[in-house]
Amino acid sequence: MKQLILLASVFTILPVLSVFAQDNPLLELKWAQNYTPTYDEVIGMYQLLDKNYSNAILLEKGKTDTGKPLHLFVINDKEEFGPGNIKAAGKSVLLINNGIHPGEPAGIDASLWFADDILRNRDGMADILKNTVILIIPVYSVGGHLNRSAYNRSGQTTPYETGFRGNAKNLDLNRDFTKCDSENAKSFSKIFNEWDPDIFLDTHTTNGSDHQYSITLIPPEPDLFPPVMESFIRSTFIPEIYERMKEGEYDLIPYVSFMFRDPKLGINMTQEGPRYSSGYASMFHSYGMMTESHIYKPYPDRVKSCYQFIQELAEFTSENSEAIKNSRKSGISQSMQAEEYPIAFSLDTSKYQMIEFKGYEAARTQESPLTGLERFGYDRSKPYAETIKYFDTWEPNEFVKVPEYYIVPQAYTNVVERLDLNGVEYTTLQKDSVFKVTVDYIDEFSNPQRPYNGHFFHDKVVTHNESQEIQYYKGDLLIPVRQEKIKYIIEMLEPKASDSFFRWNFFDNILDQREYFSSYGFEENAVKYLDEHPAFKKEFQEKRKNDPEFAGNHRAQLAYIYNNTEWFENTWKRYPMGKIFK
Ligand SMILES: [Zn+2]
Repeated sequence: MKQLILLASVFTILPVLSVFAQDNPLLELKWAQNYTPTYDEVIGMYQLLDKNYSNAILLEKGKTDTGKPLHLFVINDKEEFGPGNIKAAGKSVLLINNGIHPGEPAGIDASLWFADDILRNRDGMADILKNTVILIIPVYSVGGHLNRSAYNRSGQTTPYETGFRGNAKNLDLNRDFTKCDSENAKSFSKIFNEWDPDIFLDTHTTNGSDHQYSITLIPPEPDLFPPVMESFIRSTFIPEIYERMKEGEYDLIPYVSFMFRDPKLGINMTQEGPRYSSGYASMFHSYGMMTESHIYKPYPDRVKSCYQFIQELAEFTSENSEAIKNSRKSGISQSMQAEEYPIAFSLDTSKYQMIEFKGYEAARTQESPLTGLERFGYDRSKPYAETIKYFDTWEPNEFVKVPEYYIVPQAYTNVVERLDLNGVEYTTLQKDSVFKVTVDYIDEFSNPQRPYNGHFFHDKVVTHNESQEIQYYKGDLLIPVRQEKIKYIIEMLEPKASDSFFRWNFFDNILDQREYFSSYGFEENAVKYLDEHPAFKKEFQEKRKNDPEFAGNHRAQLAYIYNNTEWFENTWKRYPMGKIFK
């Protein structure tokens, strides 16, 4: 309940916004002095906004790895903060996530400033709230933000102090959205499932090339979406958001992803898979994107351009509210009818569009002020504006057939927990049952030399499948695939999908053999087996006759019997999710 409810009732004749709207900002932000607020200051400022405005609230939504809560700030146009009622009223939902990498705090400052302005209805901004609710995660990596120092970002001169990239568990949270090793990601999944945002923004800062822009965009990658949403992104969202930004102080370009050493030769649209925030959103048919503020621009420009982007995005969301919601609805229905699903893509280098790019000449022979030696750099005294190629199409090159059901053994509690967090619907088996299912066998997989974010991620996965009768037990999960969360279900449960549970080591237990044979101990059983299976015995004898090397190797002969009979364990490398097709 809001603390100001009593006060509000005194002024009931006036609409809520004008009762509390302020002429001046409430918050004292110091980004102009290259200062970004500490964790306590950020939360304190949202508490102040919460206290002053009855149409906004600061909620605690689960924990983070520090034990401190994950906060969510909700801005509506009235004192109503339940997602059910708000969505039932037909509003679209915009979620903004900040401080996933606390060394990149432009969005933390910009969101505070934006929240302050929209609540005090600066220049009529509160109109946005008539059909759109705005959700802000003030700081996502709480542990990273608390780990504050002047030495956390070597390539960044301002703000003078920031947080650290790793969270309290030293995880990069922008790789954690599917494996969910952090409490932060678990809490985030709940928020995402509860609110089902139509538009999602995750704010970052990047280095890499130098150019004239303060802000760049990783847009929702169109090829990750069903056709109706792909078309909305390409024909409406992308052109409009660039056009709107052009009208303001700060121009926007796509994130500069290099295909060549010099961006003049062309850049490409990146495709962020489900482990990343924007890719995670795409699994739920949510238009997810990341801004990348440019590290080499003064901090105030990073904050101001991020603010401008948030404002344009909020206005775009509000003005296109119906179109956005309808495209998602149609997109979900297209996904639910799909016969096959793409799991791997490659950049199509034959497809590109020409975009304006304002860069600085690359200088391969720049003298270093520190060492006096030559180094690579950019010559800021030589700005240019050119038209360059932007390669913006990813072609799917591998598909899986969409099953009607997956059966998930309850033994995999870590998988079940994540399915629950993400709102997957299923029933459980009422009794022990044998099902005829299709199962994948892992034929090959790779392991990296070093762990990556706490895992030995399987980069290469080769499978084949077989049809088998398998025993399942009362309580195992039967998941109908053709439901709203279809993309999440396939991305996580198909072992070859790019960020699947298998790739993140959730099923490594199946990769080693539990039983084997001893050259001495197996012999009695092997002889008995041959006697009871004359056809196989004949085959075995033939092999001995025709293969002298085999005939001279005791171990090889026992191995032949073991590996080609029921003795061989068929659960070895068998991926335990059964699939039922139409
Ligand atoms: Zn980042």
